[in-house]
Amino acid sequence: MIPSEFDYIKAKSIDEAISLLKDGDAKLLAGGHSLIPAMKLRLNRPTKLIDISRIAEMKGIKQEDGELVIGAMTTHYEIMTNDLIKKHLPILSQAAELIGDVQVRNKGTLGGSLAHADPSADWPASMLVTDAVIVVAGAKGKRAIKAGDFFTGFFMTALEEGEIVTQIRIPLPSANTKSAYVKFMQPASRFAIVGCAVVVTGNGSIDDIKVAFTGVSESAFRDTAVENALKGKKADTETIKNAADQAAEGVSILSDHFAGEEYRKHLAKVYAKRALTEVA
Ligand SMILES: Cc1cc2nc3c(=O)[nH]c(=O)nc-3n(C[C@H](O)[C@H](O)[C@H](O)COP(=O)(O)OP(=O)(O)OC[C@H]3O[C@@H](n4cnc5c(N)ncnc54)[C@H](O)[C@@H]3O)c2cc1C
Repeated sequence: MIPSEFDYIKAKSIDEAISLLKDGDAKLLAGGHSLIPAMKLRLNRPTKLIDISRIAEMKGIKQEDGELVIGAMTTHYEIMTNDLIKKHLPILSQAAELIGDVQVRNKGTLGGSLAHADPSADWPASMLVTDAVIVVAGAKGKRAIKAGDFFTGFFMTALEEGEIVTQIRIPLPSANTKSAYVKFMQPASRFAIVGCAVVVTGNGSIDDIKVAFTGVSESAFRDTAVENALKGKKADTETIKNAADQAAEGVSILSDHFAGEEYRKHLAKVYAKRALTEVA
C-alpha cells in the first residue's frame, strides 16, 4: 500500500501543466481520489505528479452564452451545492450527492472523474444526457469534445497524450425539461453498479428524451431503444414499463462479484423505470 517514488510539482497555470506533461511519465493530480489508490496498489507508477489543484482558471461554475461552464477542478461537493446548478441542471446536484462519502465529494473533481472514465463512475451518464461538451487543452491547442465522443471504452477516453480537461460546457435546458439520476450503489464505495440518467423535454407528451446508463457496460452509453420507445408518447405507467423493459439490450454487460450479468441487466430495467417514473 505504499506508492513507488515520485517527484511532486505544483502547476500554477494550464500552460505550465501542459508543458510539464511533456515528460511522458508524468501524471496530473487533481483530487487524488482515484489516482492515489491506484498508485498505492502500484497499478500506476508515475515518476512525476503534477498537482493541478491550485490552478484558479480550472475552478468554479459560471453562466456564459446560454451555457453553464464548470471548471474541471470543481469538486463534487461544489457541484452538489451550487445555486446555478440547482436551478438549471438539478440532475447534476442529484448525481453529486450520490457520489462516495463526504471526503470523496470534497476532494474529487468533475474533470478527474471524466478523465479517469471508471465504468462505474456517476458523472458520465449525466454528461451524456445533458449534451455536455468537454473542453481539453494540450500542446497543439484546445479541442471541444462532445460527451458522446469522449468515453471510448473501459477506462478509456478521447483524451490524447499530454491533454488536460479544462472545463465542461453544458447548454441550459429549456423550461419544459425534467431530469432524474438514480442508482443502485455498491454498499461500501457507493460507486454505481447501475446508474440511470434521464432528461425529458415536453408538455404532456415527450418531445425529446435522453436516457444513459453507467456501471452497466465498459463505458457509459445512451440507450436509444428506451428513448425511441418513449419519443412522441405520453409517459403513462404502461408506456414507461414497456420502454424500461428494453433497457440494456444488445450491449455487453459487466459482471463482477457484486452483480453478475443477468442481475445487472435486470437492475438496468428496474432503475430505468424508476428514473422515468421520477420525471413523469
Ligand atoms: C472510497 C471512494 C469512493 C468513491 N465513490 C465514488 C462514487 O460513488 N461515484 C463516483 O463517480 N466516483 C467515486 N469515487 C471516485 C471519485 O469520484 C474520484 O474523485 C474521481 O474518480 C477522480 O477524480 P479526482 O479529482 O480525485 O482525480 P484524480 O484521482 O486526481 O485523477 C484521476 C485520473 O485522472 C487524471 N486527471 C485528473 N484530472 C485531470 C484533468 N483535469 N485532465 C486530464 N486528466 C486528469 C489523473 O492524471 C488520473 O489519471 C470514489 C473514490 C473513493 C476513493
